[in-house]
Amino acid sequence: MIDLHSHTNESDGTCSPGQLLEEAVRAGVDVLGITDHDTFAGYDQARALRAPAPALICGIELSTKLHGKSVHLLGYFLDADAPAEFRHWVLDLQASRRERNVRLVARLRELGFDITLEEAEARGRGMTGRPHFAQIMVEKGYVANLRQAFDDYLDESAKGYVWRREPQFAEGVARIRQAGGIASLAHPVRVNGDVPALMPELCDAGLNALEAYHSDHGPKETEMYLGLAHQYGLLVTGGSDFHGAVKPDVQLGTGCGGNLKVPDNLLEQLRSRHAAR
Ligand code: AMP
Ligand code: FE
Ligand code: FE
Ligand code: ZN
Repeated sequence: MIDLHSHTNESDGTCSPGQLLEEAVRAGVDVLGITDHDTFAGYDQARALRAPAPALICGIELSTKLHGKSVHLLGYFLDADAPAEFRHWVLDLQASRRERNVRLVARLRELGFDITLEEAEARGRGMTGRPHFAQIMVEKGYVANLRQAFDDYLDESAKGYVWRREPQFAEGVARIRQAGGIASLAHPVRVNGDVPALMPELCDAGLNALEAYHSDHGPKETEMYLGLAHQYGLLVTGGSDFHGAVKPDVQLGTGCGGNLKVPDNLLEQLRSRHAAR
């Protein structure tokens, strides 16, 4: 079984890199893509463990902007031997997040919440982000659940939202490709816009693949994105988007209640495209 989309506690997952590997073995995942948000720290640690299984694919999930809306972009095959420039650029993205967090704390305090940056960073460390602030808001009883924290305060459209410098989608794709990677549109169902209508623009930007298989996709969505990938000559990727205990419904390898079946042969196609660069 392959799963090309997972998170460790180096971004917003709850499993340490070692625990994620154990979970993969338990779930029967033999090829695992680690795709933390804007960091390679989880992948690098997992690889250093030299576990006999699963085989690891070095990935990343970038938050980018497209027409002012947030779009997640997966990058694959970005191992440490990829150009150092890409990893430097990723470190810059992390710096922009830290700078945003300072302003986010100020905004949340203005709204009357007793939250400090230290508390959030104790949870998220190098990749502290809105999900960590949301967890604190739940724990302190300010909101009933994570959903409410986002809907009422942290979502782009909500009153606590604070702007952060994020790369444009096209820049993210270009950077991934310059680094020799493969760029795939993450969970297209979550794109705030008409994906079929956006396809020509996404392809012009150089997108390589669509994540047609994802825990948030029902059979209809998967079929639609497979059709679009075929129509536009794109590769296909797939994965659970496992985050551990913060998204308990999502299982590594099999998604929500077994709704995910990522075909093994996707990997050969990705690898051969990557090798052809
Ligand atoms: P940040 O990078 O700190 O701005 O936080 C982005 C992360 O917050 C995303 O990767 C999601 O995991 C989560 N997120 C963003 N918007 C929402 C939302 N409306 N509901 C739940 N989670 C969200
Ligand atoms: Fe996430
Ligand atoms: Fe995502
Ligand atoms: Zn993800």
